[in-house]
Amino acid sequence: MLSVKNIVKYYGSNCAVNGLSFDVKNGEIFGLLGENGAGKTTTFRIIMGLLDSDSGTVTLDGKKIDYTVTDKIGFLTEERSLLTKMTVKEQLLYYGALKGMSEEKILKKMDLLLKEFEIEEYKNRKIKELSKGNQQKIQFIAAVMNDPKLLILDEPFTGLDPINVEMFKKHIRLLQNKGCSIIFSSHQMEHIEEFCEKLVILVKGKSILEGYIKDIKKDYQKQNIFIRGDIDIDEIKKIDGVISVSKKLDDYVIKIENDKIVEKVFKKISNCNITKFLVEEASLNEIFIAKVGEAK
Ligand code: ATP
Repeated sequence: MLSVKNIVKYYGSNCAVNGLSFDVKNGEIFGLLGENGAGKTTTFRIIMGLLDSDSGTVTLDGKKIDYTVTDKIGFLTEERSLLTKMTVKEQLLYYGALKGMSEEKILKKMDLLLKEFEIEEYKNRKIKELSKGNQQKIQFIAAVMNDPKLLILDEPFTGLDPINVEMFKKHIRLLQNKGCSIIFSSHQMEHIEEFCEKLVILVKGKSILEGYIKDIKKDYQKQNIFIRGDIDIDEIKKIDGVISVSKKLDDYVIKIENDKIVEKVFKKISNCNITKFLVEEASLNEIFIAKVGEAK
């Protein structure tokens, strides 16, 4: 289990991380969210031991993270960090060695992963000759080739087509099933909703919302009703508890304060010609925008 306790980091007088705490259990995928500049990369660097925090502690299975546990960690950074003049094989041998793997083990694992990600033919090609998506695959392979206990994924799906996204997802699930603790960061909320049970949202280095996504959605209360048909939107806007009415393709989207308003809306349109009436919880995207907006 990864345990982050009360970490604080200042750059000069700028507080980049302000008393952040969270746990990621074995086999759990945890979402670390925040706007640009919120403190995510700084947090990752502290967890990895690449940057010292001013106070607070980070432990993996009860042990402080230093060079003795770095071979149990995998890190896929947002910025590309491949040495582009090297071949794929040279690159993976280099990263594997940094993680303390034997050459024999690296070569075996490399062949398995290159096959899994359908890029065996690039093994002896220079990184710079690979497409952006294939470079991303090499970066991912470098992060997971040691079967990490802790994996940090910062925008892992950047530059990938939908088929390759599925390939990555399959491998992430595989590591999760092996008990790996995974921290996942993305500005694409649909990926967070799909992968993470728990999350924290940072604003200026401070947690403004944390917990299980299903509880966060329940607490948020606001919901959306999707209606398709002939309705009088001015009448709906007058209902107490209706926040807004907008149009999305063929549907009217009625944002309501809580589920008690559903019945009122339903009554109002019951005599209209309706082909769709669907009630949905607010999306994580809406919650993120609302909560970050409130905090600021
Ligand atoms: P993004 O989503 O844009 O990658 P982030 O959430 O990863 O952003 P950080 O890079 O951790 O945010 O930055 C947090 C704060 O710390 C910002 O105010 C940033 O300007 C500042 N900061 C980050 N790195 C440094 C540094 N090396 N020196 C000084 N200030 C820094």
